[in-house]
Amino acid sequence: MPKSNNTSGASIELLNVTKQYPNQDQAAVENFSMKINPGELIMLVGPSGCGKTTTMKMINRIIEPTSGSITIDGEDVLSLDQNTLRRRIGYVIQQIGLFPHMTIAENVSVVPKLLGWSKEKTAARVEELLSVVELDPKTFLNRYPKQLSGGQQQRVGVARALAADPPVMLMDEPFGATDPITREKLQAEFLRLQESIGKTIVFVTHDFDEAIKLGDRIAVLGPKSKIEQFDTPARILANPASEYVSSFIGEGAALKRLALLLVGNTKMGAASKANAKAGSVSVSDNLREALDRIVLAGGNTIGVQDATGATVGSLSIEQISEALGADVSALGK
Ligand code: ADP
Ligand code: MG
Repeated sequence: MPKSNNTSGASIELLNVTKQYPNQDQAAVENFSMKINPGELIMLVGPSGCGKTTTMKMINRIIEPTSGSITIDGEDVLSLDQNTLRRRIGYVIQQIGLFPHMTIAENVSVVPKLLGWSKEKTAARVEELLSVVELDPKTFLNRYPKQLSGGQQQRVGVARALAADPPVMLMDEPFGATDPITREKLQAEFLRLQESIGKTIVFVTHDFDEAIKLGDRIAVLGPKSKIEQFDTPARILANPASEYVSSFIGEGAALKRLALLLVGNTKMGAASKANAKAGSVSVSDNLREALDRIVLAGGNTIGVQDATGATVGSLSIEQISEALGADVSALGK
């Protein structure tokens, strides 16, 4: 799983947090407690209406909790003023939420302006951030949101949230509105970005596959944000805590676990066993991709190449299956 060795994040702790909206018979979030380590990417996954957005918005006080406490690096967020919260917490909202009448540059400058940064410092930061999310500043600075594709708008949303280099990022279904291909691309980019910036990220999604792909740990939530299971993707897949969690994982738990295991970390066979016609996989591919290609080629074994393209071994269906079994015992099932 993505683990940054470049942590700039803060710890977050929620303790018995409850939100009761006025005139509702049920709480939206009830007694939610969670400890998040600096630099961790935590996924909150659950069905629509279970309380994910409410839980997240209490961390930056867009919604005030009815009771309970929330601390960032040990400091009570209720005691922090708005400017401090903005500096410490970047926020990507559910519907991207770019201001339509502002250019991309103005959108990304919102928080720096509120914090009183100089024009020069703000402009330099905006250019830097657009490059970080792979949008060419020359092309995009002066455009308006509607002149961008959905995926490009999402990237601007991420850039805007990163503007003040906050140790904490809250992301509410940030890739929800994009097509599957753009979404995969944004997810991959996001993982690369997180590897270099090492923020503490709370990421909301209703998509369990997205949670597996991105999360260091996943909290599977039921109604009122009740935590049904909170663990690494591999452990949840290998050992779901309840029927509810299993139903959330859906079909193909074994295949999903294969996607978490890298070819390069798997016990391989001799390079001589590789059948050239069956093609090859790279050490950086995952076992699900390897299996997919073996099945497609109609064979039983596939060659494995290193980053230079040299064949360094071979992988058979049996070896893939063994790797899955070894992973389960390593997880202590
Ligand atoms: P999710 O993000 O998981 O879809 P939400 O946190 O948005 O869920 O909502 C949780 C519950 O709280 C839902 O039942 C929703 O209808 C209710 N809710 C959300 N916002 C408000 C509000 N401002 N006033 C009253 N009820 C709300
Ligand atoms: Mg929501």
